[in-house]
Parts: sequence; structure tokens; C-alpha cells
Amino acid sequence: GDLSTASPIGNGYAFAVTDCLFCKIAAKEIPAEIVLETGRALAFRDINPQAPTHVLVVPKVHYENAAALAAADDGLADDLLSACHIVAVQEGVSESGYRVVFNTGTGAGQTVFHVHAHVLGGRSLQWPPG
Ligand code: C5P
Repeated sequence: GDLSTASPIGNGYAFAVTDCLFCKIAAKEIPAEIVLETGRALAFRDINPQAPTHVLVVPKVHYENAAALAAADDGLADDLLSACHIVAVQEGVSESGYRVVFNTGTGAGQTVFHVHAHVLGGRSLQWPPG
């Protein structure tokens, strides 16, 4: 959890990837509206919210997508999922219902290649998502 002593993590990346937006947010180099910080994860509001609650939950270390994260560090995957559900409780959407989404790959709409879960709630959500 200590950003200053983080070391290479064996996935081919050092702690922070140059020019990765979410690495910079995780390092507090770029401001964000943070709603939760745990030892290994950070949650902050999406700048272009698609629902009344739209929070992004990221690991502080860099993985390109959920598949890479799960393959490399299942404990971190656990932490990330738990953080999503804590965010939902904090945001008051755990009773009404919410959605946790990992867009994985450009074909699925992934635009930032630092894994992030979208936590969406506060309105009725349609299925299929389109
Ligand atoms: O799943 P995808 O990669 O498309 O999600 C990226 C998300 O990051 C978008 O919802 C976008 O609004 C958000 N974003 C942000 N802050 C930025 C750039 C993008 O919250 N500075």
C-alpha cells in the first residue's frame, strides 16, 4: 500500500506506467474525486457519469485489463471486487441494485488500458447493455 516503496510487480510493468492516466490518478499526480481508498485499490467518480452513481475502481498497480489482473494476482482481484461492493454500500445503491462492469478490449468499449471496474447505480439499468 505504500506508494513510495512500491517495486516492480512481476507483470512486466513497474508500479507506474508512463502516460497511464489511472496510474497518475492512483499516484495522486492527477486529481480525482476519490470516494474510497484501500491498501491496494482506489475508487473515484467517473468524469462523464452514465448514472447518478458512476464510480471507477482501480488497482493502484497497473494491469491492462481484468483478464491480466486475474491471471497475475487473484488476491488483488478479490480486493478490487470487494472495493466495488463497499462503494455500492457507501453510495446507497446496494439495496436498489447496481452494476459492476469491466469493459475488456476495444471491441467492448475499453478506452483506458488500466483495469477499472465501473460501479453504476441510482437509476434503472437496462439489459442487455448494448
Ligand atoms: O471502460 P472504459 O475504458 O471506456 O472507461 C473509461 C472511463 O474513464 C470512461 O467512463 C471515462 O469517462 C472515464 N474517464 C475518467 N477520467 C478521465 C478520463 C476518462 O473518469 N480523465
